[in-house]
Amino acid sequence: MKRNKKILILSHCILNVNSKVYKLANYEGSLQELVIPLMQKGYGFIQLPCPEMLSHGIKRWGQVKEQYDTPYFRKHIKKLLQPILDQLLDYHKNGYELSGCIGVDGSPTCGVYKTCRAKNWEGEISAINSIETLKALTNSLEEVLEQGLLMEEFQKALKKHDIHLPFFAIDEANPDMSIKIILKELV
Ligand code: SF4
Repeated sequence: MKRNKKILILSHCILNVNSKVYKLANYEGSLQELVIPLMQKGYGFIQLPCPEMLSHGIKRWGQVKEQYDTPYFRKHIKKLLQPILDQLLDYHKNGYELSGCIGVDGSPTCGVYKTCRAKNWEGEISAINSIETLKALTNSLEEVLEQGLLMEEFQKALKKHDIHLPFFAIDEANPDMSIKIILKELV
């Protein structure tokens, strides 16, 4: 039997970039530079769900953490994570290695070390009636050193079950560097 019992958990868009907000994609389908070496090393993959796609669809606007951080969206994330957690518990109990989780830094949902915030992002887009207002809005966007909502809920749930695994991230601002760092650790 060839299976090596090593599993990596990946954010959905690492395997399917089509789930990202339209215009945000710097690869065609899967992040091959990351995924192929990991496949060749023999890891199996579990793909996390994309909570944004599964609530707001493919025509959604890019949003920040404040906008998604509602009781409803957290409930949605927990519901989506449950079947994944059940699988992980089963693998863990039966001696499989959960080798790590790879998220997406910069995302309000899947950021591991970094996410994005902007205090005044809300309301009706057609009411933005001047370039100055638009500039003020975009200038209020900031990258902050905290997790996105899915990663917060995922790590809480893993902790509750006493499961510990390393977390890595593809940094949307510098994917090449993050791929190098991750491959150095895992391959
Ligand atoms: S980072 Fe997370 S929420 Fe954003 S597109 Fe990827 S999987 Fe979906």
